Amino acid sequence: MTQEEVFKALVAHCKEYGFIFPSSEIYDGLAAVYDYGQLGVELKNNIKNYWWNAMTRLNENIVGIDSCVFIHPKTWVASGHVAAFNDPLIDNKDSKKRYRADVLIEDYLSKIEEKIEKEVEKGRKRFGDGFDEAKFRATNPNVLREKARYDEIHARYVKAEAENDLAGYKQIILDCDISCPVSGTKNWTDVRQFNLMFSTQINNTGNADDKIYLRPETAQGIFVEYLNVQKTGRMKIPFGIAQIGKAFRNEIVARQFIFRMREFEQMEMEFFVKPGTEMEWFAKWKENRMKWHVNIGMGAENYRFHDHEKLAHYANAATDIEFRFPFGFKELEGIHSRTDYDLGNHAKLSGKKIKYFDTETGESYTPYCVETSVGVDRMVLAVLSNSYKVEQLENGESRVVLSIPAPLAPVKAAVLPLVKKDGLPELAQKVVDELRYDFNFQYDEKDSIGKRYRRQDAIGTPFCITVDHDSLVDGTVTVRERDTMAQERVKIEDLRALIDKKVNINNLLRNL
Ligand code: ATP
Repeated sequence: MTQEEVFKALVAHCKEYGFIFPSSEIYDGLAAVYDYGQLGVELKNNIKNYWWNAMTRLNENIVGIDSCVFIHPKTWVASGHVAAFNDPLIDNKDSKKRYRADVLIEDYLSKIEEKIEKEVEKGRKRFGDGFDEAKFRATNPNVLREKARYDEIHARYVKAEAENDLAGYKQIILDCDISCPVSGTKNWTDVRQFNLMFSTQINNTGNADDKIYLRPETAQGIFVEYLNVQKTGRMKIPFGIAQIGKAFRNEIVARQFIFRMREFEQMEMEFFVKPGTEMEWFAKWKENRMKWHVNIGMGAENYRFHDHEKLAHYANAATDIEFRFPFGFKELEGIHSRTDYDLGNHAKLSGKKIKYFDTETGESYTPYCVETSVGVDRMVLAVLSNSYKVEQLENGESRVVLSIPAPLAPVKAAVLPLVKKDGLPELAQKVVDELRYDFNFQYDEKDSIGKRYRRQDAIGTPFCITVDHDSLVDGTVTVRERDTMAQERVKIEDLRALIDKKVNINNLLRNL
């Protein structure tokens, strides 16, 4: 299967097993809006717990809040979102499809990069052990030609971005012969700016002053509560405020399933520091956040940093943590050094004094801020796409398995009476009663045991517990492990500890 086919199969799987549904599907759905089903919500909650606890329990100087989606509209003037939260859009006149001009160019650049990597791989195969990659990259004419082309387009792209040169974007698209993937033509409109914020009316009077925005990031809710939290929590700099919540963006191109949605969830932490120390903290948080991701156990090679060339209007340093999604390395988390931009502007526009008084030095200053911001839905997609596998078994059959890291798995264990008689369901019920307070589990007595194992594999359940006739005699059950399919006999009273060792999120936290 190609990566594209695997991705399609994953989307279908998510729907079939109750992870993720297109929103309001009975009315043909709503573009780029998805609902989480019974298993999706459990996975999502586990991810949120891992993040929340890593932030607020492992750091004594980080506290959490829960602010509203609606905030005073001046917030978005102060934050710069009203003026500058734009994406450059372009339409293809034949297909009537809309694209982000910057994304079209970035995709084109990625294709050149892929070509270079393919050349290098060819060289590696040709020269075998004696392959000198650095020399090959510096001398091979095909690599050099593609690299020169990449550098030229890239330099123009960075300049167009920095100068907000919309005509410049269009010229690159024309010069690179980029065509619409749907119509195949190059019949493009001019590039225009498009503000991504959704708005609505708060008082229903139709007065323009009543316009209010749905927050495009949760961060501003933290900035407007900075003073309250700092004072009531008697927080001393450096300290952080964490928040998980919904954000809304009217994305121009909303494809790739839950990767880019119009309503999504963010886990953001704003860390307030003394001016001049922000780069040190930026480096610390980069390391800290990468550790959090790799600790989940989906392979360090699937993550990388991508430093920003163009900085957002509020930042003096920025990097992304990218993950290897089925459609390539893409942003999973953003880490920004936001300076005093936000607090400074809120102070100006509100007329309130938003300063920190350092009792030790007697100084008073506007704190600088380092932000870590990760999308909950992108985390869900990372976990699901990394764990979806179609395996060929020795007996010639195949199985679909979600090898979700056990602490994040939606269902931790399934309790399965071998047959629906002879007192086995009753004993299975006792096992269930033993486990229900600690774990999310499923009880299943329908179909053959093989079919029931497959159903649990398909939703990523780490353990299947089978109650059979021997269980009635010796009080043991068979525990089957999802990934290895290995089976062992375990005493019913030992089950809780055995499962807990593998699935408890605290074990993940302890490794951080
Ligand atoms: P992108 O470049 O992919 O549009 P961004 O740089 O605009 O993302 P940030 O503003 O840094 O994203 O937001 C922080 C995080 O929020 C992102 O790393 C991502 O995980 C998540 N996120 C942003 N936009 C969306 C979206 N439309 N759907 C789902 N998650 C999103």
